[in-house]
Amino acid sequence: MKQTGIYIHIPFCIKKCPYCDFYSITDQSLKQPFVEALIREMQMVSSHPLVCDTLYFGGGTPSVLKPENIGRIIENAYELFNISTDTEITIEVNPGTVTTEKLKGYQGVGINRINIGVQSFNDEFLDFLGRIHSTNDANRTIKWARKAGFDNIGIDLIYGIPGQTKKTWLSDLQRAIEFEPEHLSCYMLTYEKGTPLDRERRQGRFKPVADSLLSELFETTIEYLTAHSYVQYEISNFAKNASKISRHNMKYWSFSPYMGFGPSAHSFIEPRRYWNCRSVKKYIENIKEGRVAIEEKEILSKEQRMMEMVYLGLRKTEGIDIDAIDENLGINFRQIFTEKIKQLEEDGYILPIQPKNHCMLSRKGMLFLDSIAPMFMIDDFLR
Ligand code: SF4
Repeated sequence: MKQTGIYIHIPFCIKKCPYCDFYSITDQSLKQPFVEALIREMQMVSSHPLVCDTLYFGGGTPSVLKPENIGRIIENAYELFNISTDTEITIEVNPGTVTTEKLKGYQGVGINRINIGVQSFNDEFLDFLGRIHSTNDANRTIKWARKAGFDNIGIDLIYGIPGQTKKTWLSDLQRAIEFEPEHLSCYMLTYEKGTPLDRERRQGRFKPVADSLLSELFETTIEYLTAHSYVQYEISNFAKNASKISRHNMKYWSFSPYMGFGPSAHSFIEPRRYWNCRSVKKYIENIKEGRVAIEEKEILSKEQRMMEMVYLGLRKTEGIDIDAIDENLGINFRQIFTEKIKQLEEDGYILPIQPKNHCMLSRKGMLFLDSIAPMFMIDDFLR
């Protein structure tokens, strides 16, 4: 039986970064009523029978909350749900919001994994991204986290920032690994519809990085990190060893169940997915009146399940587990896609299916995930 993850969305940020489309507000005055509502929301669904082995504080900026509040939420989760003893408990930290005492406080209330949103070790790029922190803040935060006793530290970086070159990106990677983090996430800057950065791009206010350079930076990332003993386990994610992969994020890519709490948080208990409203005020009001804050629910069709299992599976270096997909959908994946698999394998986009009976992208294939995944969607076979 797959174990469940708990995701807690903390919807507050000090300032909105122009590239970000996650739900958060900058008005901090609702923090305390939000924490009370969150605990109440957890109590409302506490009859959930599944065993949970990850608890993830994301956002927004979870590190705007004091350790006491994070501690209360963790305590309640332990009281209300069936949480295993070796649960991975992660908090995302923005370097502009913590002190050494705060990090020690998080460690004291049970956080055992910390993910630091460094994004870049270059102040000019941080400025472009509209971050509230400087390179110095990032350096200090990583050192403080180690000193506080964290032995599972993740660093998030962004590449593809206008003005970036292979040289400046390599210098970011080098700086990151000097801290010997257990985990590294390297995300490509994307222009999400409706964000201020996307508007500026459309207005021609800056020149985005060329596609050819983006591909080069992607390949450079894999080459550099694998040469320094990091294992790539997902397109953008690398770990020092198998025990340091993000157990929580793996649930999203492995079609495992998760429960989300807080505004905009999504939950998935196969075959159902549902998500909360994107408004702190509405969320608090609903919960106060004894109603859950779910905005919409859907039951995934066979086609949707197929699409997600293929798309998410291909993101992982271990690929799609063909036995699992066959069992879940009652199909014969290899038989249906014999020709496609043969062609993609010959062209070097996927690796040999055997011996594991997994369909895995090659490094070259990873650059074309968005074109390759739809090749495995044939509705007719699912009816
Ligand atoms: S701090 Fe993080 S969540 Fe908040 S706006 Fe910036 S990128 Fe988005």
